Amino acid sequence: MDKKTNEVLKFLIDWNYLLIEPPVEGSIAEIYFCFIASCQVKGKDKVSWLQFVKCLQKLNEICIHNAFTCMPANALSLTYEDPFKCFSKITYIDRLALNLIYKQVKLSSNPPIEPPKTPPPPLSRLRLAAQREVPRDKEERLDLLMELVDRPPVKSKRAASDLYAGLSPLDIEDIYTTTSRSKRLEQLSLLLSAPAGSHILAKERAKLRTPIKPFFDCCDDPRHAQLLIPLTSFDRATNYCKLNLAKLNDRLKNETGSSDTYTELARCVNQKIHFIPIIQSQTDTKLGDCSYLDTCHKMSSCRYVHYGQLMPQDDSASKKTAQHNKNINKAMQISDFTRGEAISPATRPELPAQWINCDVTKLDFSILGDDFALIIADPSWTIHMNLNYSSLTDSDLLQIRMDKLQKEGLFLLWVTGRTIETGRDFLKKWGYQVVNQITWVKTNQLVRTISTGRTGHWLNHSKEHLLVGLKGNPKWINKCIDPQILISSTRETSRKPDEIYGMVERMVGPGTRKLEIFGRQHNTRPGWLTIGNQLNGTHLVEKEIAERYYSASATEA
Ligand code: SAH
Repeated sequence: MDKKTNEVLKFLIDWNYLLIEPPVEGSIAEIYFCFIASCQVKGKDKVSWLQFVKCLQKLNEICIHNAFTCMPANALSLTYEDPFKCFSKITYIDRLALNLIYKQVKLSSNPPIEPPKTPPPPLSRLRLAAQREVPRDKEERLDLLMELVDRPPVKSKRAASDLYAGLSPLDIEDIYTTTSRSKRLEQLSLLLSAPAGSHILAKERAKLRTPIKPFFDCCDDPRHAQLLIPLTSFDRATNYCKLNLAKLNDRLKNETGSSDTYTELARCVNQKIHFIPIIQSQTDTKLGDCSYLDTCHKMSSCRYVHYGQLMPQDDSASKKTAQHNKNINKAMQISDFTRGEAISPATRPELPAQWINCDVTKLDFSILGDDFALIIADPSWTIHMNLNYSSLTDSDLLQIRMDKLQKEGLFLLWVTGRTIETGRDFLKKWGYQVVNQITWVKTNQLVRTISTGRTGHWLNHSKEHLLVGLKGNPKWINKCIDPQILISSTRETSRKPDEIYGMVERMVGPGTRKLEIFGRQHNTRPGWLTIGNQLNGTHLVEKEIAERYYSASATEA
């Protein structure tokens, strides 16, 4: 097909799509003027009136006289001197037929369809070069067209830049092609599968702002731990060991030529973490490791083996992370979009930590305000275990007016095995939709998953769940930054990993009010108000909250 016919074809497809209701009724001259105008916009060569009519004829021939319905029926075979003398009309453009030709032209490298040499078969039958019969039924026709529409390419095979390139028209030419249905569909599917710019930005910002710790492997040679027993001293307060370098150097000096045990040990001690058995007078090594290791409540009398941790001596890894951590202040200058405002944490630092020692079931929540972006609660659910703090029955907990604390935002609720379902139910009753669940996989001191925890009825509990409830439709939440799984070691009974704060703070951004319910002193942090009955008194810095709280306590007294 020649270039001009191709241009007319493209124009007709696009132009016809711009009109809402097919079929189209317009004089051929009118369509010609529109075409000329579009050529002008695109900076293309002019096509004369006669050429234009010829192109229409050609297209109609390719489609076996079925592309256009004209008035009079033979309008395209008449001769017109100029457009002003043509009063014939095109009353129907078969979009399907035109699209099929367009696809053929685009897809095949050979000049594809030539007008059939034999006289056209009856008008009702439209056959294409592909010899596919065009169904009569409109639905079926559409299906066939959709089949021919370019499928979006397999994503993994395309570079990301390629993938997104399709999202925006690159030049004026593209703007015209993107009005075609197939291109628009492709763009739409690309758009839907592309991560939002806000997600990408939030993720990058989080990477720059999150302090990192050096990562070390653990030594897996059991001989090293044995050799290190006489070379280290143990500090019970911290559970860490200290290396006696002088002693190690002595051993290195005495090492005979053929043996390199200590040379190898010195190299390993520089790079990896070692766990050194602490042999006390009561320790019976035959019993093996204590299940609780460093969290054992009776370490000074326990007969099982405990360990002290010896950190790598080489500090080059720490130097690398220190460099990143130094740049965090710079990253803090970048504004963050949070709660509908652009905030730079550098200009609006978090409020200092605040806390209230109280019985949560008795506190009037209206004192606290209702604009928390985030709430986290770790209730002492009734479980069959002796704990050193009070617990709550399910109905006491449900009665707490959690529904009053937020207009919109996130509510994270720690649940235990039995209470996963109860927790979901409670969140819904408080006005939240449970949108996700964060899982904390517990590791022990030796960085292995817990196989014999303190809790568990059917199976040993080696994980805990944090339900993520959402109220309203907050636009300011940073989505998809962290994964929903967190691997971290256990500490005191019920104490949750600190990493959780980083995760949830990244979701709501800086400068937002955050509330922790059933928190303890070690949970207090800048930006957070912590409430619970094991806190050291009350410490409030927000003036209105302090006033409301103290005047309510005075009335009570
Ligand atoms: N998430 C915490 C552990 C919370 S344990 C951490 O990481 O350490 C549950 C806490 O809720 C305990 O401190 C318990 O004393 C407290 N608590 C139980 N009932 C309470 C009540 N009615 N009012 C306030 N605090 C309560």
